Amino acid sequence: MSGDFLENTQYYVDKAAKALDLRADVTKQLKTPHREVRVELNIQMDDGSVGTFIGFRVQHDDARGPFKGGLRYHHHVDAEEVTALASLMTWKTAVAGVPFGGAKGGIAVEASKLSQGETQRLTRRFIDGIHDIIGATTDIPAPDVNTNGQVMAWIFDQYSKYHGYEPGVVTGKPVALGGSVGREAATGRGVVYATQELLHTLGMKIDEQRVVIQGFGNVGTWAARDFVEAGAKVVGIADISGGYVNDEGIDISAAIEHVAKNRTLEGFGGGKHVDGDALLAHDCDILVPAALGGVLTKENADDVRAKIIVEGANGPTTPEADEIFAKKGVHVIPDIYANCGGVTVSYFEWSQNMQHFYWELERVNTELQRVMKRAYANLNETRAKHECTLREAAFILGVGRVKEATEMRGL
Ligand code: NAD
Repeated sequence: MSGDFLENTQYYVDKAAKALDLRADVTKQLKTPHREVRVELNIQMDDGSVGTFIGFRVQHDDARGPFKGGLRYHHHVDAEEVTALASLMTWKTAVAGVPFGGAKGGIAVEASKLSQGETQRLTRRFIDGIHDIIGATTDIPAPDVNTNGQVMAWIFDQYSKYHGYEPGVVTGKPVALGGSVGREAATGRGVVYATQELLHTLGMKIDEQRVVIQGFGNVGTWAARDFVEAGAKVVGIADISGGYVNDEGIDISAAIEHVAKNRTLEGFGGGKHVDGDALLAHDCDILVPAALGGVLTKENADDVRAKIIVEGANGPTTPEADEIFAKKGVHVIPDIYANCGGVTVSYFEWSQNMQHFYWELERVNTELQRVMKRAYANLNETRAKHECTLREAAFILGVGRVKEATEMRGL
């Protein structure tokens, strides 16, 4: 799957390069990752045994600023998946117009099987392995699947042991350690801002939309809350335990409370339990994949009834499914724009850390919305100029900006 993911990412970069009329050598330079690191991580497990894991950090491009990207703890993590995700970060930061490059990292591990102590030891050991290639002006990790503010706090602490106090080395930190207010909500909130931009273009109202969200972690829960707050009805949610649908509207606060107590939605009584595929095909106006990649494929794309897909997750749609959606007239808001709210507020957090001056929540949200509006306007102009889909426009915009910076810096 991860091999396909990398291939799919490169496919869109090649397509953008063609639209921009780039030379083959330039395209090759843009696609090639700067550095790929693989580290062996040995830790003591709670039962006294030694656990051996593999950690990855891929730094894809830093022409526009320090490498930037999340850390994922998941058993699917491998070199190719991390490389694909790192590449997406390069184009995403360029689309958002924030002064960062792209990177990604992760550890291949069944995160749900680790205790809190094991997770902490694994995180610290990972930083022992990569501390000399990360830093506030070089490479700045952040949360992704199965990592959160606590994991970022351990990263900050472990890094400080080698390099002294440098909160800007990682974003998504708890507010008590120099994190930004509004960072935890930012990706999901940005998903809703992105949706509002498209709805505005289409002359549609958010309070008339029925939404299904796959993935009920950081991105999914915050998107759900903000959709409801904007007046939309969330009629389906899902996590690793399956889907839950309720056409009257799901009580999102009750679902979040359930997960806080039970770790997953398993046993949630606020909706009818359905399997993952049925959830994606459930009758709704907007579908938000906010879990893992590769979930919308040529096998299930025709079953999707939503008219709008907003990619909270990275790489949820395969190119074949994307083509089917384009033919069906389904609007797809691509990951490298739809979920850029996270890296945008990470940028705000980082700049607050660099200045030691902290913002109020209202300023964070206003600035986030401003960035998302500006990026959407740029996307729309690009789409009109190249007569293409929003995804193609996003890659054309991202690749074009990175190419410009690369060329100006020279060899
Ligand atoms: P998370 O670990 O907080 O949540 C992941 C959720 O997906 C969980 O609810 C999990 O149960 C669910 N899930 C896992 N496998 C599933 C399956 N097979 N079917 C249905 N649900 C499943 O992760 P997150 O930070 O919310 O990230 C979700 C996605 O958003 C990822 O693709 C990530 O790369 C992307 N993303 C995250 C951020 C961020 O700031 N956290 C930013 C941009 C993009």
